[in-house]
Amino acid sequence: MKNLKLIGIVCFLFCLLSCSQDEVVLEQQANQPAKPSILNSKNGLKPIGSGVMMQAFYWDVPAGGTWWNTVSSKVAAWSNVGIDAIWVPPASKAQNGPFSMGYDPFDYFDFGEYNQMGSIETRFGSRAELINMVNTAHQNGLSVIADIVLNHNSGGDSEANPYTGGNTWTDFNPLSGKFYRSATDFHANNIHSNDSGVFGGFPDLCHNQTYVQDWLWKNSNSVAKYYKDVIGFDGWRFDYVKGFDPWVVKAWKDEVGGFSVGELWDSNVSLLSSWTNSADASAFDFACYYKMKDAFMGNNLSVLNDNMLWKQNASKAVTFVTNHDTDEITNNKILAYAYILTHEGYPTIFYKDYEEWLNKERMNNLIWIHNNLAGGSTNILHADSDEYIARRNGYNNSGLVVYINNSNSWLERWVETNWSSTVIKDYTGHSNWEPTTQSGKWVKIQAPPKSYSVWSVK
Ligand code: ZN
Ligand code: ZN
Ligand code: ZN
Repeated sequence: MKNLKLIGIVCFLFCLLSCSQDEVVLEQQANQPAKPSILNSKNGLKPIGSGVMMQAFYWDVPAGGTWWNTVSSKVAAWSNVGIDAIWVPPASKAQNGPFSMGYDPFDYFDFGEYNQMGSIETRFGSRAELINMVNTAHQNGLSVIADIVLNHNSGGDSEANPYTGGNTWTDFNPLSGKFYRSATDFHANNIHSNDSGVFGGFPDLCHNQTYVQDWLWKNSNSVAKYYKDVIGFDGWRFDYVKGFDPWVVKAWKDEVGGFSVGELWDSNVSLLSSWTNSADASAFDFACYYKMKDAFMGNNLSVLNDNMLWKQNASKAVTFVTNHDTDEITNNKILAYAYILTHEGYPTIFYKDYEEWLNKERMNNLIWIHNNLAGGSTNILHADSDEYIARRNGYNNSGLVVYINNSNSWLERWVETNWSSTVIKDYTGHSNWEPTTQSGKWVKIQAPPKSYSVWSVK
């Protein structure tokens, strides 16, 4: 969601006070290589987590109903370079109609086919264009992750509300004819006055109401089943999960399955980790995001020693450098991508970073490295203010050693690899060294200024 910067800042401050080093976790993981959670619900799709996710939108993509076609035109190229899934914005009609990015949902079943909220199409296009985009992604082996807003709704009419004694905007009469809502379906109501959070002043859905559960995930014509079976979505990105309890995500997932990731905007690792357990879903690794921000914007890479969700629970961590809400790691951003694409967790690439802002060849190289070399557990070999070196120990591949250099000059360092008397090379091509490791597995590697190198068996 937008407008959560304050929460982020508060969390960030909390993080500064509470973070501690966490070498214990790394030690534990050394014995059990982390494998990404796998989903393969449709024939021919790459398993989610075997590659890299593309966040296939930004704030604000061009309006006018062309975005689904733009995505359709890109999925073949993305698949070819190692993307395995795309995350798309909320697909149904929202209060701001043709201008909305979708986070103010009104009619969960209007994908650009009913004339309401100022337009027939959504900002992104028509229902046919949406389905064409999903099919094109599938034909290229990509899963499509839907953005699901369950906390709040927007665009209802005013009605007398017996639970508040006043009038509220809780009378929803969508033209799809599905999931009419009124005061009882929101907070406060006959069950309780609130859940874990509200977003702005939007009517806050009550997931304890049987009627709401039926329409969102339980019935055969629920949102979850319609999105999965009729539109063809494969997975779910749950918006603003601080606004309701984690059992809601688990109940949804128990009903329709699918890779699931929650937007829990908080840098607190224990909070992120306990949410992934309760929801039985992955979470975006905001702890990693804020640590990278500290490391790369504060010129102190030793911060990367600190705890992150991927260090706690790699199979449930979705890592990212930028998203549609926040873009703060702006110094030499490719170094942060070199970090997430060589480390554990399921990395996400932001559309604008890939298509417009960063060097696409370098990004493609890092995606290749992620998919072919970045397996197994992690050991940090060296970290100080301007350099960071870590080793992936391999899992059905050779593993790697990544050397991130945030200084203004070439650096070199002796490191301990897993390879004995073996010729290695830098798969980024930044260094032309091809050293042979000693019988005791030590070798000297180098990295260029404000850049990185990634070493593995030649
Ligand atoms: Zn933290
Ligand atoms: Zn409730
Ligand atoms: Zn809520």
